[in-house]
This record gives sequence, structure tokens and C-alpha cells, in this order.
Amino acid sequence: MSDRYAVLGNPVAHSKSPQIHTAFARQTGEDLSYTAEHVESPDFEAAVGRFLQGNGKGVNITVPFKERAWALAQWRSERAEKAGAANTLYRLEDGRLAADNTDGVGLVRDLADNNGVTLQGARVLVLGAGGAVRGVLQPLLKAGVQSILVANRTLSRAEALAELFAADGTLAACGFDAIPAEPFDLIINGTSASLQGELPPVPAAAVVAQTACYDMMYGAEPTPFCRWAREQGATQVMDGLGMLVEQAAEAFQVWRGVKPETARVIADLRRAMTA
Ligand code: NDP
Repeated sequence: MSDRYAVLGNPVAHSKSPQIHTAFARQTGEDLSYTAEHVESPDFEAAVGRFLQGNGKGVNITVPFKERAWALAQWRSERAEKAGAANTLYRLEDGRLAADNTDGVGLVRDLADNNGVTLQGARVLVLGAGGAVRGVLQPLLKAGVQSILVANRTLSRAEALAELFAADGTLAACGFDAIPAEPFDLIINGTSASLQGELPPVPAAAVVAQTACYDMMYGAEPTPFCRWAREQGATQVMDGLGMLVEQAAEAFQVWRGVKPETARVIADLRRAMTA
């Protein structure tokens, strides 16, 4: 029987992870299955234990369980440790539960490798201070950005992140009303405002033609943030579909030791989504 993998979440029915990992398996010749498993909140820890038995080799974790996955683990990669959240679980050879977080490397690869965004020396504005942002700050700093300003609706959450990552690089925090009206090299929307059709109030002067604009959310239609960025004249505007595929590729490599090729998978998903 082939090895089994799954994404656990709630809701999870619309997850694209099964499609992505199935494409990776076909491409690399790995013999595995990957399903989406809906988990009720009180059952999360038990569901992980049930799945990771026998042929159950690994799980991805999505909303709202990433922090609980982190807490459940008996070993954590450095990037998961710092993020305080895990999206990838598996068993070590000694049976301990291991946690990783591949969201940050997924974002950095999509920006730098897939879209040619220069991170070295960049002045970055990050909108939001939730779980997704927590996972991407250290990988961005490691990629050599010059500074990161974390702006959030709730100022105290941005301040807490700035403090947590202070030792890793130049990080500052502010509320949306204090975002300076001056151009950034890169703006990343890590809020879930787009889900409600809303837009964080970023001053128009923060965007010039050369400002790379990235929304971690993605969809068939351009997100409100992506539309807004184009209206401000930004020429490079990206959504989070590539990040989704890249974080999956990194998890696949952690589990299987093989790195799948992502460009074709991103293109196929985009085509299917907008068809
Ligand atoms: P969280 O719920 O942890 O955080 C939500 C964040 O959005 C908070 O900073 C919150 O501010 C802010 N926010 C919510 N609504 C609004 C609004 N109307 N206006 C301004 N700010 C708002 O969510 P996650 O961090 O898990 O996810 C954030 C986004 O990233 C989602 O859109 C998610 O789909 C996407 N994502 C994409 C991934 C990918 O692979 N492409 C991976 C992971 C996430 P406050 O603190 O004030 O409440």
C-alpha cells in the first residue's frame, strides 16, 4: 500500500493541496496518496495521531490549527520554532512528532525565483500581523531585506512581532494610520482583509511603478489589494498562488527528499482557476 499524506483543517474542502501534491507525486514518480481531511476542533490532536500511523507519513496543517500543531510537536525545525506555528508534521525515525513551517520559504521562493523580485537590500512593508506574517518574517530577513515595517490594524500585535524578531534584523511596527507616505520596494499584504473584499488603508505614496506588490491571498479574480496596486501604477503585482505551491513543494521535499518542479503546477492551477 502506498504512503498516505493529508491536509488537516476546518474548513478544508476547497484546499488545492491534494491537487498540488498529486501533481508532484506524478512528476517525481513517488508512490503516495494525498487527501483533504476535515477535522473538528476538539479532535485535532487525536486526528493527527490517528493519521500518522502505519502508512500515514505526513500531514499539512491549515486554518485554524497551525499553532496547535506547533504545540503538539516534540521536535521543531528552527524556522517552525521561530514562527510559533507549523504547517507540516511527520514522524522522526525515533517516533517523535516533528514540525516544520514551509510558508516563509514558499513566499521567498515565489518572490525571488518565480517573479525575480530583488529582496537583497529591499525596504519592505508588511501588512498584517497574524499567523501567516509570523511565518514569513524570518525567511524575509534571512533573504537579506534591508528593513521590514509591520503595519497592522491592531497595533499591539505588530509591536509584539517586531519585538520577537528584533534580534534577526531591522524590524519596526506601526498602525495603519502611521504608515509613512513614501515609496517601498516591496509591499506584502498578509492580512485577510481581501477575504471580506476590503483593503488595508495604505497611503498611495507608498507605491510607485517599481514597487513590487504581493497579496498572500489568491483567487480566480484579482484580489482588492492587487487591483488597488495596479491602480496606483505598480507594474509587478502578484497573488499568493505561487506561495501556496512553493510551500507545498518544500513540504514534499521534507517528507520525500525530492524537490518537485513548481512552474508547471502553478501554471496548471492558474489555468484551472480562471477557466
Ligand atoms: P490571521 O487570522 O492569523 O490574521 C489576519 C490578519 O489580517 C490580522 O493581522 C488582522 O488584523 C488582519 N485583518 C483581518 N481583517 C482585516 C481588515 N478588514 N482590514 C485590515 N486588516 C485585517 O490570518 P492568517 O495570517 O492565517 O492569513 C492571512 C492571509 O494570508 C489570508 O488571506 C490567507 O488566505 C493568506 N495565506 C496565504 C498562504 C499562501 O500559501 N498563499 C498561506 C497562509 C495564509 P488584526 O490583528 O487587527 O485582527
